[in-house]
Amino acid sequence: MKFLDSSVPIATCDATGCEGCKVSNSVQCHFGPGDLYHFYLIFFPILLVGGAGALAIGVVPLLIWIGIIISFFGFIEIRVMCSHCPHYAEEGSTLQCWANYGAPKLWKYRPGPMSTGENVVFFAGLAAVFGYPLGFFITAGSWFLLAAYLLVTAAFAVTLKRFLCSQCMNFACPLNGVPEPVRQLFWARNPSIREAWETEE
Ligand code: SF4
Ligand code: SF4
Repeated sequence: MKFLDSSVPIATCDATGCEGCKVSNSVQCHFGPGDLYHFYLIFFPILLVGGAGALAIGVVPLLIWIGIIISFFGFIEIRVMCSHCPHYAEEGSTLQCWANYGAPKLWKYRPGPMSTGENVVFFAGLAAVFGYPLGFFITAGSWFLLAAYLLVTAAFAVTLKRFLCSQCMNFACPLNGVPEPVRQLFWARNPSIREAWETEE
């Protein structure tokens, strides 16, 4: 697996080096295998429990859920959300980050905020991915699996918000939790992104 060199500033950054950069304490500009494995660790239990619920009904419901997941995280989310992320501006045809690693970059990089339509598609996609297995648990009366699914999904959401969204460089994402003063610091080093936001706002 390939990741960006953590000593070299990202494509949008005007700095000559990352050493001593105050932004690096608060915003994750580079990613490594540990970041990706951490994401897999918190997302895999959802796949396992949700997949068991769908499989209890049949193979087809499971395949449909897998199709929804791949369509959303591999393509739709990349278009509506990730194409606004500074990481998307890097060279190469696929993402090398901590969540959607390997997703193809089929669209152009579009710095600046997400549109209302993109926000609607983003949340509708999340609802489809995480809501899809719920009906199967209820139909099959799998109450233990339902409780387990809600638990691992809640754990995923809390961990994501607490440790990833709080330092993610994609300020366009509606889940982003980076505080305004830190955004200003990041934009000072990435002026082209600031300009894109100022043009859109
Ligand atoms: S803002 Fe630029 S210099 Fe600072 S850590 Fe990120 S890429 Fe490196
Ligand atoms: S928004 Fe997150 S998942 Fe998408 S490219 Fe940026 S870091 Fe990766």
